Amino acid sequence: MKELKILYLYPDILELYGDYGNIQILRYRLQQRGFKAIIEPYSIGDTPPNFNDYDLVFSGGGADQEQGILAKDLIQYKISIQEAINNGVFFLLICGSYQLFGKYYKDVDSNIIPGLEIFDYYTEAINDRKKRCIGNIVIEAELNDKKVKIIGFENHGGQTYNISTPFGKVLSGNGNQFGASNEGFFQKNVIATYLHGPLLSKNPQLSDYIIKYCLDRKYNEDIVLEPLDDEFENKAREQLS
Ligand code: GLN
Repeated sequence: MKELKILYLYPDILELYGDYGNIQILRYRLQQRGFKAIIEPYSIGDTPPNFNDYDLVFSGGGADQEQGILAKDLIQYKISIQEAINNGVFFLLICGSYQLFGKYYKDVDSNIIPGLEIFDYYTEAINDRKKRCIGNIVIEAELNDKKVKIIGFENHGGQTYNISTPFGKVLSGNGNQFGASNEGFFQKNVIATYLHGPLLSKNPQLSDYIIKYCLDRKYNEDIVLEPLDDEFENKAREQLS
């Protein structure tokens, strides 16, 4: 039986607005098609993971305090993470995790939380606790040369700058900064985004893009995924877009 091995980072610390739903959706969409989903959690104090052993790494969102708690732990894995990214392991990073893969996050009190510095972007919060990008958001992304509307919910004070390859174009909502035209960061095997929601339950095409990428890479094929009944997902999308 074909399988995907998923590393789920800091499930006890990074879980905002249903981010865990992304793991549930991956498991569901794999199992429905007869694939096995092996999901291994890692958090502070656990045996250090070898990021290269996985097909997919997922890390959710967290508030400033949580980011501060885990930044040091995460940074010790920088070499293993960089290697995994170079080797094509897929990374899906939401909000607080998105920020931590950049150079740094400067919080509302101007404290600096260091990032992994794997990517060149950086994030700074505005010095006003009340100023946050909050609400539903719709972006247009390109997945395998097809334009796809991606729907989610954002809630972040951080404004992310220096993005050369965004995840998508903002159709409604804020994105990387207040009133930005771009949202998130995208390179073939890394999607980093402010979209909670959970992201994958509202965007089956994105879930299948990630699943296909991981299966193709692992089994060296060009798989055609069996379609699933996405009636409820599509109804939710109609409501939100
Ligand atoms: N602490 C970050 C911010 O407010 C991330 C929040 C989140 O993960 N939703 O910008």
